[in-house]
Amino acid sequence: MQHIAVIGAGQAGATLVETLRKQGFDGRLTLWGDEAELPYQRPPLSKAYLLGEMTRDRLHLRPASFYDDQRVEVHTGTRITALDPVAMTLTHTGGTETCDTIILATGSTPRRLPADIGGDLPGVFAVRTLADIDALEPHIRADGHLLIVGGGYIGLEAAAVARKRGMRVTLLEAAQRILSRVSCQDTALWFAYRHRAEGVEIIEDAALARLTGSDHVSGAVLSDGTSFKVDAVVCGIGVAPNVDLAKAAKLEVNDGIAVDDRGRTSAPGIWAAGDCCSFPWRGRRIRLESVPNAIDQAEVVARNVLGADEAYVAKPWFWSDQYDVKLQIAGLNTGFDHVIVRDGTPTGGGRSHWYFKGDTLLAVDAMNDPRAYMVGKRLIESGRSPDAGAVADGSTPIKDLM
Ligand code: FAD
Repeated sequence: MQHIAVIGAGQAGATLVETLRKQGFDGRLTLWGDEAELPYQRPPLSKAYLLGEMTRDRLHLRPASFYDDQRVEVHTGTRITALDPVAMTLTHTGGTETCDTIILATGSTPRRLPADIGGDLPGVFAVRTLADIDALEPHIRADGHLLIVGGGYIGLEAAAVARKRGMRVTLLEAAQRILSRVSCQDTALWFAYRHRAEGVEIIEDAALARLTGSDHVSGAVLSDGTSFKVDAVVCGIGVAPNVDLAKAAKLEVNDGIAVDDRGRTSAPGIWAAGDCCSFPWRGRRIRLESVPNAIDQAEVVARNVLGADEAYVAKPWFWSDQYDVKLQIAGLNTGFDHVIVRDGTPTGGGRSHWYFKGDTLLAVDAMNDPRAYMVGKRLIESGRSPDAGAVADGSTPIKDLM
């Protein structure tokens, strides 16, 4: 009997096994995950779950009975420590498995603050896994002071939750502004304003020199010598793709496990999907860290493993929730040369920032404006660009941009 093994029981891994069965794969199907949990959604971890508005059981993508019904052998708490692309074997703590096809869906790992500046002190938390959040949650207390290191979406979402729960929050950003890697200045300013209005102290262009404390973090010192007391620290300084297995097996790695547009790695019979891999897109190689990418790519890879020969054409989109703001992002803004700000309130919308390269629309950040997001997404996906003047004029009905 054919054996397909999926390494990584996250969003992509769960989608892979589900799609393989939907597409009629009838052989042995195994899913290997080093976390204790069945596959679950990560986005609510820094949003509704940390806020206490979503229960643990609702995080899981499927109940255990689903995998039983689908005859998927799920091995939680089991780390794959090696793979041999010639013998097609996987090694884990309990033994070795022989496979016909291996799919890597190993995701990414948060970057940690170095231990020599106190990054390993108790009370310093990453925000990646359910276990991370369960460890952090008791430290989100109204009488405490939380330091968040990193002004990306994860850090900002954690800041919003901690403020909503009444905690004092300081957010430290080493770059000149928050969201510097992912958004334009207008979006960064808009969110910085909103967070400051909610009481978050944002310190930009400021590096952390060290964290202090003996048995628990109790203070922070900045590179300019400023110091203050803290009760807990959230580290939100980005993620790195999990490529160690692939590297050790001598698969090509290039900002993630390198796959072609079908999802094939450099080794025959081994595929990859989700956060862990980089793939060709519009003449370059990209890696996306998002749920829609993990799902869409995993679906295509599953079909290709079964012989479909379909190209994966990513349609990037992303969202973030902070306070009562839903940010929806369509497209990828890399290479933009100007941004048009649209205040859609005259036509019942919200605010949106439209990224252009010349006359070409690349991406849209829509804040509480789902219609602007939808119109932007449709335009980008169909390769069309709206008239810049009409975008800027918030009294132009949004549908007229199509
Ligand atoms: P993962 O979900 O990371 O799953 C990979 C799994 O593989 C992990 O469980 C890992 O432990 C396991 N693994 C790794 N190596 C091995 C091994 N050797 N053996 C066994 N198991 C292994 N995206 C959005 O689009 N919108 C959002 O609002 C959003 N919010 C987020 C909030 C948080 C707090 C986080 C952490 C992420 C958020 N994301 C969001 C990103 C999104 O969750 C990821 O892009 C998505 O989970 C990627 O799925 P994946 O399956 O590729 O990787």
